[in-house]
Amino acid sequence: MSAIQQNIEEIYAIIQQKKMLTGQEPGNVTLVAVTKTISVEKIKEAIGCGIGDIGENKVQEVRQKYPFIGDTVRWHLIGHLQANKVKEAVRIFDLIHSVDTLSLAVEINKQAQKINKIQDILLEVNISGETSKFGCKQEEAIALAGMAGQLAHLRLKGLMTMAPFETTEQMSRSIFRGLKELAGRIRDRKLLNVEMRYLSMGMTSDYEIALEEGANIIRIGTGIFGERVRP
Ligand SMILES: *Cc1c(COP(=O)(O)O)cnc(C)c1O
Repeated sequence: MSAIQQNIEEIYAIIQQKKMLTGQEPGNVTLVAVTKTISVEKIKEAIGCGIGDIGENKVQEVRQKYPFIGDTVRWHLIGHLQANKVKEAVRIFDLIHSVDTLSLAVEINKQAQKINKIQDILLEVNISGETSKFGCKQEEAIALAGMAGQLAHLRLKGLMTMAPFETTEQMSRSIFRGLKELAGRIRDRKLLNVEMRYLSMGMTSDYEIALEEGANIIRIGTGIFGERVRP
């Protein structure tokens, strides 16, 4: 068994185990393989091991890989999206996790409308309120959700967050719990076209905690492909 296959099977086993502990359906968790800096060959290997969801954080990088992989998988944009890359992003990505401003939502809506697509998005929220560059503030998220819901070519499907890199287990746990609570508050508003179905939280170092706190999308790179070599 290859290292990639072994890693993926281990993660699936942990998903199963965590969901059993928390009484949730294991089938409801999506494992997004994060493939930034990873070659097409290795991505195909992961797909061969059952991966159906690929996460990338740069449109430029996906532009090169997409032709070799195509629509056999669902593509997730997990990194910051610049306005000038939106047009290309809506042509490729099934779910954009990183919407954090109204202006970005408006631009995605506009570009999606042009190709007659309904674009699924998540709001990225900076729960820790810490120095992280991206993600809207918790206080802004409800208003942003309401406005995004009014854009006809968007469907808001949930929330995404990242815990800070240097952190404790307790800190990560409280961030993930905070995201789940926020999703609950947004759900209670019963906003038009807003569905709090996905909680995208947890990476290699903290996905087990995220699963315990209700994540149903986890984004794992290093834990599948090994340490990334910086380009
Ligand atoms: C790179 C990245 C991940 C995966 O990180 P690993 O620690 O390699 O699992 C997850 N989410 C986002 C937003 C990322 O940029």
